[in-house]
Amino acid sequence: MSIDDRHFIDPSSVYSLLMNTDEESAARHVQAFLRNKPHLMGQAQFTFDVCVAVYKNHRDDIRLGTPFLKLFNQYAKLVQDSYQGKKTFDLPSAKEQAQGLLSSTTKIIKSGWKKVPPDEYQERLGICKKCEFLWPGAEGMLRCGKCGCMMKLKAKYAAMHCPIDRW
Ligand code: SF4
Repeated sequence: MSIDDRHFIDPSSVYSLLMNTDEESAARHVQAFLRNKPHLMGQAQFTFDVCVAVYKNHRDDIRLGTPFLKLFNQYAKLVQDSYQGKKTFDLPSAKEQAQGLLSSTTKIIKSGWKKVPPDEYQERLGICKKCEFLWPGAEGMLRCGKCGCMMKLKAKYAAMHCPIDRW
């Protein structure tokens, strides 16, 4: 288990734990790691829930180190960054976000990683910037309070849509 200088749990460490032990033992290990680090609890629990969900459904992808894992890790870091010193009100629960992330990532893969043209991407972000559901605790990342996703990443992909159909 490791943390870097920005203080988030490295998802690769969680995967290693899951590969070398079972979910219950891995959860115990994570809890022990966090015992004296209450400031890491929210983000770490989220990361753990996401890693377990991903591990159960995409074990082979993780072993192969596919782009799936790259996208997931990129997303997990953005999510964890947004927790730093911020409130987490108005966001779906960590488990709901984990399921949403898993479902979104699967759709992106099935679409062949298809992206929208740059002007459509900017149009999407413009709508989010004016939206009343944009979460105020993640400046610059455009985090949606409805789905918990980071719009700067999610809005790039053609298979992704606004949860309330604004784009
Ligand atoms: S994805 Fe939809 S609900 Fe979320 S911030 Fe953007 S416009 Fe608002």
